[in-house]
Amino acid sequence: MKIKFLFNKILDALNKNLIKPQKKIEIRLDRLSMDPHHYWIAVGKGMERPFTGEFCNHEQQGVYQCYHCKITLFQSDTKYQAQTGYASFFQHHKNSVKIIETKEKFRYSALQCMNCQSYLGQISKDGPPPTFLRYSINSGALKFYQPKSIKQLSQQSQQ
Ligand SMILES: [Zn+2]
Repeated sequence: MKIKFLFNKILDALNKNLIKPQKKIEIRLDRLSMDPHHYWIAVGKGMERPFTGEFCNHEQQGVYQCYHCKITLFQSDTKYQAQTGYASFFQHHKNSVKIIETKEKFRYSALQCMNCQSYLGQISKDGPPPTFLRYSINSGALKFYQPKSIKQLSQQSQQ
């Protein structure tokens, strides 16, 4: 709480031009409300320990959204079991993710949400057809959403 209080004071001073920053500083207020785990992934570019994420063995039909900005990143029909311990997909939803850096040595690239720039996970070229890509995504970067029509379908099939 104390940190938040001080932070507001700094912002206040900046707004009143009492402090003139030497460089243009970018403060993303939306990042400050994240809990440590989500912050560590989204900003710190952390990877969860394999097989610990809630979506690595998740098999329901629906949509995987960005945890932070809720845009659609992946559809459940592009998810597959890669046995890597991460939620794995072979294709992303159009205009949703972008590659930020490539680690040639480790043969993967880092991925972030195109909309809010949160870190998501990694992409490598050893996936299944038709794309031969493998997206290894942190469960903590995702939010699962099941559209109503699919929910009704699965309820009917259970009856
Ligand atoms: Zn996002």
